[in-house]
Amino acid sequence: MYPNWILQRANLTPNRIGLTFEGKRWTFEEIKEISFERAKQLAALGIEKGSRVAILGENDSNTIFVMYGCMHLQCEMVILNRKLSQSELAYQIDDAQVTNVLVNDNDLALIPENVNFLLFSEIENSGCEPIEISKEWTVDQTVSIMYTSGTTGFPKGVRQTVENHQSNALASVLNIGLSEKDVWLCAVPLFHISGFSILVRSLLYGNEVKLYRKFDSESIAKDIAYGRITHISLVAVMLERILHVLEQHEMKASPSFKLILAGGGPVPIDYLRRAEERGMKVLQTYGMTETSSQTATLPAEDALRKIGSAGKPLFFNQIKILGAEGPYQEGEICIRGPHVTPGYVGRFENKPSTEDGWLHTGDIGYLDEEGYLYVVDRRSDLIISGGENIYPAEVENVLMGHPAVKEAGVCGVEDATWGQVPVAFVVLKQAVSTDEIIDYCHVHLAKYKVPKQVHIVDSLPRNASNKLMRRKLKELLP
Ligand code: ATP
Ligand code: MG
Repeated sequence: MYPNWILQRANLTPNRIGLTFEGKRWTFEEIKEISFERAKQLAALGIEKGSRVAILGENDSNTIFVMYGCMHLQCEMVILNRKLSQSELAYQIDDAQVTNVLVNDNDLALIPENVNFLLFSEIENSGCEPIEISKEWTVDQTVSIMYTSGTTGFPKGVRQTVENHQSNALASVLNIGLSEKDVWLCAVPLFHISGFSILVRSLLYGNEVKLYRKFDSESIAKDIAYGRITHISLVAVMLERILHVLEQHEMKASPSFKLILAGGGPVPIDYLRRAEERGMKVLQTYGMTETSSQTATLPAEDALRKIGSAGKPLFFNQIKILGAEGPYQEGEICIRGPHVTPGYVGRFENKPSTEDGWLHTGDIGYLDEEGYLYVVDRRSDLIISGGENIYPAEVENVLMGHPAVKEAGVCGVEDATWGQVPVAFVVLKQAVSTDEIIDYCHVHLAKYKVPKQVHIVDSLPRNASNKLMRRKLKELLP
């Protein structure tokens, strides 16, 4: 058994600020009081203890209070991505078999037809049912269910338990340390594990979260420069925009600013150098929905020495490369540890998430001789041409190095001689011929990796997380 995080935190540091949002602030005691009220209102509206409900809302304090209300009721919260289309939402709501969807009033238009829902305003204006709130949670209780991004196939509903979240937050703090003055800025979505894990850390560590409704590079750059925050989670494009503002105003990070946790993919070296000049440490991290956030993290002091690496596994975690007999051998990345999900819900319910305790990530990578992890690409996107392995990510990186290319996507197509050959799709920022692009590739890539065709397109197929869906590239073929 573990304590109810919200209660325990209010018990330990009731007067500390736990959340700030758009000029308002709440202590942990106030957070407890409001979330208690939500739990009782939800109960009055028929939400049963332990039931499965979905939540749809933007990054807003009222979304957090509804989530915490659900946590008091020990509900399994399916946290929905509000950037999805209505049909994608309908799929997840149906797949997860929720009894009700709790919706922020602003997001009402996103709700599919024939779905049971309650608006946040209905909840907030409801009377209370006097219910007993559990002071204890069990280790394997599901706190949240999040769908994977659907980059490689159907999105999978991942169970994230008390133990998963807790062990992740603990492993993270063992890596980066903690002070009661820490303030973690959250401008990444709460419906992704990158955002929700900031809330979990706040409850466990007792630190403040500064929540943003939307990413705002001007305002965030000032928070960093004026010492209003100590930590921030970002993806590479956000970092670039913040760097741009700091450089424009010739500002540096305040000495009290501690670090940037950068996930989702490797951070280009140019950004790392520029961040260093602005006095910012960047910790690159590898994680996924199935590991409730980080599984490996690269310390800032290694950032330039180990360019492109996602670092070493955090304290409780193990990483192995399937089939590799030594350093630098590529294979599927497998992960073991208390942060790994016990399994999926819905159509993947019967698909075990682990084999002999190891999560098979579907990502290809290798470890160097010091045990640092390098993520190479998705296994499912691997192109095998004449017996040679081609990783689309490598070819895309070369293409994006061409000054006329803005975005690039590479996939394999069937070929009578080679089995498969690579084909590229590019979005341009200035005019260029496809022959010139192919010539450029010949300078930077082995012959078998050079795309046999280059197609110029207006946009590439991306999912709601803005990730390239390579399996959809073939549909763009003329
Ligand atoms: P689906 O599982 O439905 O195909 P997804 O894997 O994109 O979608 P997420 O759980 O949101 O869904 O993303 C996790 C994936 O993101 C990882 O498996 C990996 O492929 C990629 N990723 C995360 N961090 C890094 C990193 N530092 N470097 C490279 N890739 C990363
Ligand atoms: Mg995945």
